[in-house]
Amino acid sequence: MQLSLKGKVAVITGAGSGIGRCTALTLSALGASVAVVDLNGPAAEKVAQEIVLAGGKAVGLLVDITNEQQVDQAFEHVVRELGPVDILVSNAGIQIINSIEDFAFADWKKMLAVHLDGAFLTTKAALRSMYPNDRGGTVIYLGSVHSHEASKLKSAYVTAKHGLLGLSRTLAKEGAEHNVRSHVVCPGYVATPLVQKQIPQQAKELGISEEEVVAKIMLAGTVDGQFTDQQDIADMIAFLACFPSAALTGQSLIVSHGMAMH
Ligand code: NAD
Repeated sequence: MQLSLKGKVAVITGAGSGIGRCTALTLSALGASVAVVDLNGPAAEKVAQEIVLAGGKAVGLLVDITNEQQVDQAFEHVVRELGPVDILVSNAGIQIINSIEDFAFADWKKMLAVHLDGAFLTTKAALRSMYPNDRGGTVIYLGSVHSHEASKLKSAYVTAKHGLLGLSRTLAKEGAEHNVRSHVVCPGYVATPLVQKQIPQQAKELGISEEEVVAKIMLAGTVDGQFTDQQDIADMIAFLACFPSAALTGQSLIVSHGMAMH
């Protein structure tokens, strides 16, 4: 199998930071033109500039993926600037932790909006490029080990990440006749801003030290006590985007140093 995305157009949400940024750089290095989408406009612009400076093609776009109009306009812009979309990496995410009895309804709705509404709206917009003439494409959702397991204090996150399995599996079935494939990539703990923010919060909520949060909660289920690397996730996404047939579709791939074996 050839690892090349030459001539392909990829949209990556939440690509101004962390896993999304690393994925944008990785897919660009394989030849894809990349739309770097993020709620943080300057961060999206900065990553797009990094790609262009390295000789790639990219646009940076400020988009709130929970807003249908913004999403649709962004995809129209991408098609005009880069061409029809071949790859969607639905990656943008946030974390709000609290016990169920103290979880504010507004926080619950915000979590489901970013993770599920955002995935749905960007999928629908991407399919407008992928379905005509059965052009096809690949949609990759960022799930989590929490697509398969639960942790205390993460009701909304666990619910949303389980929900993405449903969307992805449905798309794998509906999209097959149009050559669209769909997957969920499920990272273990990756040391990005999203995770670093949680360490002091969890220590406070659970009444343990930050070191204990890392060793006993985050990395306890791994085979080697290691954080997963952003590049490991980006490489898995690249592999799935390059895979040439529907032999591989509708799957959930866990990349986690052995945490959560399913
Ligand atoms: P991150 O915080 O580094 O980056 C997330 C990006 O999403 C940010 O740039 C943020 O501005 C953007 N974003 C948030 N809300 C948005 C919105 N409404 N519209 C557009 N962009 C928005 O996070 P990360 O750790 O790189 O996580 C990326 C994805 O991977 C998330 O879906 C996360 O749940 C998932 N994940 C992360 C880990 C981990 O350990 N870091 C583990 C499993 C899954």
